[in-house]
Amino acid sequence: MTKIAIPDFSLVVLIGATGSGKSSFARKHFLETEIVSSDACRAIVSDDETDLAATSDAFDLLNHTAAIRLKRRLVTVIDATSVKREDRAKLVQLARKYHALPVALVLDIDPKICHERNQNRCNRDFGEHVTRNHAKALKRGLRGLQKEGFRQVQIMKSPGEVNALEITREP
Ligand code: ATP
Ligand code: MG
Repeated sequence: MTKIAIPDFSLVVLIGATGSGKSSFARKHFLETEIVSSDACRAIVSDDETDLAATSDAFDLLNHTAAIRLKRRLVTVIDATSVKREDRAKLVQLARKYHALPVALVLDIDPKICHERNQNRCNRDFGEHVTRNHAKALKRGLRGLQKEGFRQVQIMKSPGEVNALEITREP
């Protein structure tokens, strides 16, 4: 068991390829209302959580929702892949604006495992290159997360490490 404590007022950014287990992890550790998910936002603006044409509007909604929650000093968890630095930059900026602590929780899972999992899911009919590309992008950013402004970084390198993480909150 690995235990980490996050401050009561954090913006938690999950980082991981499709299939790495972000949504499962979020459900295990956080309230449903604390989680702002790009898929849920996509569904709200298009009735289809897989509609890629809705991505820009979906992220507008995601950022707006997160901003309102942070303005109200509520812990907020971003459930999106966030494997690209430019995607994370907006979130760090948002956390800074509202004086929340930006926390990065990385699910650095073998893309083969992610792909295998996705094959058993509906709505995730991706070629193997998708998880591979996500993993590559993730690796590129891994060492710079502190520099990007994340004050706490936890990298989980296997499903076992993901399952073993315990999160507590401190005032
Ligand atoms: P996406 O980015 O596509 O939304 P995700 O990162 O949110 O993917 P999940 O939906 O949480 O991934 O999980 C993908 C699949 O992997 C699911 O079928 C889930 O049951 C399985 N899974 C998630 N976490 C674990 C785990 N720790 N151990 C074993 N299987 C897991
Ligand atoms: Mg998900």
